[in-house]
Amino acid sequence: MIDRLPPLRDVIAAHDLQPKKALGQNFLLDLNLTAKIARQAGDLTGCDVLEVGPGPGGLTRGLLAEGARRVLAVEKDARCLPALAEIETAYPGQLQVINADALEVDVLQHLTPPIRVVANLPYNVGTELLVRWLTPQDWPPYWDSLTLMFQKEVAQRIVATPGTKPYGRLAILSQWRAEARMVMTLPPEAFTPPPKVHSAVVHLQRLAAPLFEADAKVLSRVVAAGFNQRRKMLRSSLKGVSADIEAHLSAAGIKSTERAEQVSIEAFCALAREVAKEKAP
Ligand code: SAM
Repeated sequence: MIDRLPPLRDVIAAHDLQPKKALGQNFLLDLNLTAKIARQAGDLTGCDVLEVGPGPGGLTRGLLAEGARRVLAVEKDARCLPALAEIETAYPGQLQVINADALEVDVLQHLTPPIRVVANLPYNVGTELLVRWLTPQDWPPYWDSLTLMFQKEVAQRIVATPGTKPYGRLAILSQWRAEARMVMTLPPEAFTPPPKVHSAVVHLQRLAAPLFEADAKVLSRVVAAGFNQRRKMLRSSLKGVSADIEAHLSAAGIKSTERAEQVSIEAFCALAREVAKEKAP
């Protein structure tokens, strides 16, 4: 038992929280498991935590039991609020719940660094949130680390290395500015209802500075174009990025006949720097 609150099955029944597919609601009901996920974020004492999508609050309870200084839980589904209010009462002053879309919340209005992000993300906005956390114009960002549950296939794309099938935009944006590791895998049965796929927790520790210099917007644009047509040679997949793409590829030391999958993060950053020079000569 991690706290004195009722078991999650009782909470769900009491508040009639029938999971909704459209909101990506696959709940974790085993509090030992949610505490284990919370521990993957490291020592939470002295840290504020942003949790996206607390649902009935299993992971929220894990985070508070693990000693988080303060948790900001952003939940889109208003049906979950009464269940979360019970947790607020059990941890006075430590939990703030906001009924909102996580894509719209200004985190620094509510939390004070050091901030860790820990979430069992809804599949429909998971990658969008990750990309936003990784691509602010300035670095370092407001967060120290991200500990996130994804479907396993997405987790594999985050930690992938060049030359492998899952290597692409997510691997480059993640590893350019953070150290990314897959720290746990979970079978479908760990969730209620069980999803069709396996899941995994990825831990991303931000780097003090990006691995290689590049403008976040330009790098994102170049990488997105390159992998959008990943079977094509770069000279053709990147045509829309610049009229001079062949010259930029050559200046960055990349063969124009190469495919995006073969190109390292370092080389993509060199290419982004060449493309950026066009606008700021
Ligand atoms: N954290 C809970 C757990 O582990 O059992 C629930 C995880 S469930 C996979 C995802 C949660 O995100 C749901 O509670 C869902 O209502 C919520 N959600 C979906 N879209 C959201 C959004 N745009 N902003 C905030 N929460 C969202």
